[in-house]
Amino acid sequence: MRILFCSSEAVPFAKTGGLADVSGALPKALARLGNEVMLTLPKYKQVGFATERRIQLGQKEFLAVGEKPLRDIEGVQVLFIRQDELYLRDSLYGYPDDAERFILFDKAILAFIKELNWKPDVIHCNDWQTGLIPVYLKTTLNSDPFYKGIATVYTIHNLAYQGNFPPETLHIAGLPEELFSFDKLEFWGQFSFMKGGIVFSDIITTVSPRYAEEIQTKELGAGMEGALSYRRERLRGIINGIDYEVWNPKTDAFLPVHYDVDSLEKKVENKKFLQKEVGLAPKDVPLIGLVSRLASQKGFDILLQAMDELFKLDIQMVILGVGEREIEEKLKEKAKIYEDKFKLFVRFDERLSHLIYGGCDIFLMPSLYEPCGLSQMISMRYGTIPVVREVGGLADSVEEFNPATGEGTGFLFKEYSPVALLEAVKRALTIFGNKNAWKIVQINAMKKDFSWDASARKYVEVYKEAIQICNKEVK
Ligand code: ADP
Repeated sequence: MRILFCSSEAVPFAKTGGLADVSGALPKALARLGNEVMLTLPKYKQVGFATERRIQLGQKEFLAVGEKPLRDIEGVQVLFIRQDELYLRDSLYGYPDDAERFILFDKAILAFIKELNWKPDVIHCNDWQTGLIPVYLKTTLNSDPFYKGIATVYTIHNLAYQGNFPPETLHIAGLPEELFSFDKLEFWGQFSFMKGGIVFSDIITTVSPRYAEEIQTKELGAGMEGALSYRRERLRGIINGIDYEVWNPKTDAFLPVHYDVDSLEKKVENKKFLQKEVGLAPKDVPLIGLVSRLASQKGFDILLQAMDELFKLDIQMVILGVGEREIEEKLKEKAKIYEDKFKLFVRFDERLSHLIYGGCDIFLMPSLYEPCGLSQMISMRYGTIPVVREVGGLADSVEEFNPATGEGTGFLFKEYSPVALLEAVKRALTIFGNKNAWKIVQINAMKKDFSWDASARKYVEVYKEAIQICNKEVK
């Protein structure tokens, strides 16, 4: 199958969050299954390149830039769309002309595949930035024979970022007036990229089965619940994997000591190293870690409220994250009060994140909502036991440990409250106190398969379904 994978960020080129992890790993997994895969990205500041090809789109000239196959995996070609005026900036997003930047990204992708005469069977779009691709295919490009029969799959990684812009964006996008209606691109008086993806793609997916249900509710639907329920027969949930080449305690170049499920006793060396590195006493007390964007979605309000009680316990904690200023300030206050127990690092730091996954005993994720979440899967792979809220992908990937049966991989709580959070942490600490039981949880967690291969197979099934639907409609 020929797959065009469109994303606005991908590891190792450009990353702000989980979307980049998915876009770096899924195309490779699809290629390993024997598919022909091309990945497209804007050419941001940090990307090197080899060959170039030019096209003209309206006033702007675009260059398509080739890149060697991703890392050592054959079969994934990376096509960068180069337009320096639009993409050669310090950050990926957050500019007043973001709508124009991604309208042109979507248009350029479609123009280039025609120019290259590379016709995919399916185009896989991701998040709002590529939401207009299905719209163009089903409307303005619909009579062009080149684009006939190309199926589209649209994946929502986080419904909170919808790409909603003023109504006149419709004209910048060059789309006809009749598309600006509530059953198409209009969203509360605005022009919505994401709604375009939801309404016009052949199949919609999101990143966990639980989140696929949740986004059809008023509580977690972020206003899109109507459009999503309307298309629920085309909506699927596929949980993300993690990149097993990047996240592997047996080979992880950032870890001072390597270990796996058969040499778990060595993990404690990483704990000692981490304690020293972050300035915590080298004590044998439970070390709790957290690596996350500092965003309200991630549950920092209940964590902050729980901290005074939490630090009455004999524990240590390390948090790595950047994001909202207010959360940062509040965490800093707590770090000052509990300086011998709690260390905070406000920055993006790949190395320290690996040290935390490898060196902690427990990983905390009290998210208000969580489409999928990668950190809990990474931590399980490192034998670092997750304590998470039972929501979205966290509910789909972590299973409560049952001391009676010896089954389960972590600890969950339902209610979004500091009390429920504390109660789950305490349950984890009780099991931590029993070294044999703790080892069983660790082994269970490490043996779980979170590799991309299983998820990639599910995507292939969805692509086949989308192709079938699309071909039926074309006839
Ligand atoms: P989201 O996509 O909502 O940010 P995920 O759990 O899906 O959350 O993915 C987060 C990814 O970003 C993980 O790989 C995590 O380790 C990484 N990450 C988040 N914050 C930082 C940070 N400050 N430094 C290093 N890595 C981080």
